[in-house]
Amino acid sequence: MFLGYLKFLIDVPDRVQCAHPVRKAHKKQEKCFICGAAFSRQGFSGIRFEGTEFKVLVCEGCGLGKTTPFLDEKTLKSMYSSTYREEAGTRFPAPLEKLIRVVRDGRRRALERYASKGRILDVGCGRGDFLQMMRDRGWEAFGLELDSRVSQKSKEGFDLRSGSLSDVRFPDSYFEAVTFWHVFEHVKEPEWTLKECSRILKPGGILVLAVPNMGSLQARFSGKGWFHLDPPFHLYHYSASNMKKLLEKNGFEVLKVRHFSFEYNPYGFVQSIYNRMGFKSNLLYDFLRSRAPKDAGSMASLAFTFVSLPIVAALSMGLSLTEAAFRSGGTIEVYARKKAGN
Ligand SMILES: [Zn+2]
Repeated sequence: MFLGYLKFLIDVPDRVQCAHPVRKAHKKQEKCFICGAAFSRQGFSGIRFEGTEFKVLVCEGCGLGKTTPFLDEKTLKSMYSSTYREEAGTRFPAPLEKLIRVVRDGRRRALERYASKGRILDVGCGRGDFLQMMRDRGWEAFGLELDSRVSQKSKEGFDLRSGSLSDVRFPDSYFEAVTFWHVFEHVKEPEWTLKECSRILKPGGILVLAVPNMGSLQARFSGKGWFHLDPPFHLYHYSASNMKKLLEKNGFEVLKVRHFSFEYNPYGFVQSIYNRMGFKSNLLYDFLRSRAPKDAGSMASLAFTFVSLPIVAALSMGLSLTEAAFRSGGTIEVYARKKAGN
């Protein structure tokens, strides 16, 4: 979600959106695009953001969550620019950034296990840290980023395109790998996006989708205070099993699902525990992003947070390893191969 915070949702142009059956049916009884059942179960409710109340409805067939109301692109964009996302491009304190870089090298290692070296596209690439790493390893790197404020601060040495997958039409069978690091949950038209990925991937090419896992221990424990829930920006809420169904339905074979992410999962627990205690939502996260609280109550909560942090962090690490062992990690990385004939 850290990177997801920096990105706009991946949209498609109006003509594509209007032609999409899910969009047409949205106002009526909408069916799940993965399994066809109805979003009839209440998942999380009473989530307030910027004065609006959101809930997550859940598909009774496959457990896919959907943020409701499902805001239109214009409203979401204005929310992005009016909140902390305005400082996209600047991040965490330097030592934390260094640690994140080391951990992210794990992404490269995992990807190279399945993909042969060649062209890679990172959708929602932000500043391009990952792409720079891939370029240094001999990959030909391409990035897509909707947020021009982020792309202006991007790294050198890769082909950065501004826009969404539908704005930038890459040739057929062009890439060895396409990655979405905490971006796919922002995607409004998941099936269209997967079909487009299938078109631009070479036969046998690898697709990586890293998303929060609504089937995780931390999602169940945290309720509406779950750090990785992030409505209204996360539009759909996947689990390992429905993500697998979705990929298989769209011509991909799932090779591996990783249930532990050092970057995302322990912190997901840390912040969710404090959120559950009733502190101002994501107080520590905002503070780490140089957003100090202004009111006395929040400052007192923050002081308590720091005193208790060693214990909560150790507990969270233990819980994250436990949920990973039970294959219900707070976030998942799904590695899938484009099947022959697609
Ligand atoms: Zn479903």
